[in-house]
Amino acid sequence: MKLREYEAKKILREYGIPVPAGFLIRSAAELPAHLTGLGENIVLKAQVDVGGRGKAGGIVMADRNNAVAMAQDLFKKEIKGLPVREVLAEQRLEIQHEYFLSITVDRSSRQPLLLFTESGGVDIEITAKEHPEAIRTVIANPLMRDIPPFMIRELVGTAPKEIGPVINKLYRVFLEKDALLAEINPLVTTPQGVIAADAKLIIDDNALGRQGFAVNRDLTDREREAEKHGFSYVELDGTIGVIGNGAGLTMSTLDLIGFYGGKAANFLDVGGGAESERVMHAVRLVGSVPSVKVIVVNLLGGITKCDEVAKGIIAAGIPQKVIVRLAGTNEAEGRALLSEKGYEMLDTMDLVVKKAVEVAA
Ligand code: GDP
Ligand code: MG
Repeated sequence: MKLREYEAKKILREYGIPVPAGFLIRSAAELPAHLTGLGENIVLKAQVDVGGRGKAGGIVMADRNNAVAMAQDLFKKEIKGLPVREVLAEQRLEIQHEYFLSITVDRSSRQPLLLFTESGGVDIEITAKEHPEAIRTVIANPLMRDIPPFMIRELVGTAPKEIGPVINKLYRVFLEKDALLAEINPLVTTPQGVIAADAKLIIDDNALGRQGFAVNRDLTDREREAEKHGFSYVELDGTIGVIGNGAGLTMSTLDLIGFYGGKAANFLDVGGGAESERVMHAVRLVGSVPSVKVIVVNLLGGITKCDEVAKGIIAAGIPQKVIVRLAGTNEAEGRALLSEKGYEMLDTMDLVVKKAVEVAA
């Protein structure tokens, strides 16, 4: 789960990383009370869950006199389609240079990977693409509580030495907060020293309970509902709903949809041994997405019984067309139930997918 900038900065501050003085406001009317704490020059930062806010107009430079009016404007804006509900009002820094510091998990070595570059800021993606050699990296061993000096030197190079302790403090944050990503971009030098001007922290979803989060805010209502039922469920942006059992069967159904030129709206893996009620919830959940025009149910009866599946589909009673391929345990019973109610059944997954793509088109 991705934390907002102000939440991440609060954690950084607790770990001794300097961050700008700042206040979170939920309306422009809350700003005047904080003005004395902010000084003459102010920056207003929309707390929306998207990257590149600066380029999208979510970072506004203001001063004591116009800050309230600027905040009013910012609260009326949408940043990459998201409404601005919270704004972090901060003392504006006198930036001398912008660096980039990031810690993530390296998938091949399965260890923390630290990245640093002297060309940080809003164009980091361009740097990464055009000058990847400008990004220095080291791999740390997660059993180490500190990054040893030789690794710090390798990362920092000729950049100011004061960055070294920030790297170690961010590494502590990364380990102790169960982070998948801890990033400061930009980490800036100012006449007042090195300061984290921005902060991004992604907490491993599996550690949310331990980290004190009751719900995963990154999930949609439907994804949360799916989690409650124990379904593996993912939303996409097409028009075909997909229900399968087992990751392999579900994924190959998606591949086949792509092969025939269709696009899945979502997919749900009901898992093994699904009873009719579980299937009913699955069908209703997949069908509750407004863009779903047709649903492909591709289930293999093993411990799952095809007649239970059929009862579940019928009980769901959703308005969209449901096209079914059932094979295996109690197949004949399942087919009989569905054909009685007029459901379309086809013998192979190739046929059901082809048909669904046609219907969706
Ligand atoms: P992002 O675009 O979502 O990553 O938002 P950032 O917080 O990183 O801000 C984007 C850019 O705005 C930074 O790279 C800086 O150039 C600029 N910026 C942010 N805060 C300040 C500040 O306090 N002073 C100055 N001068 N520039 C800032
Ligand atoms: Mg940034």
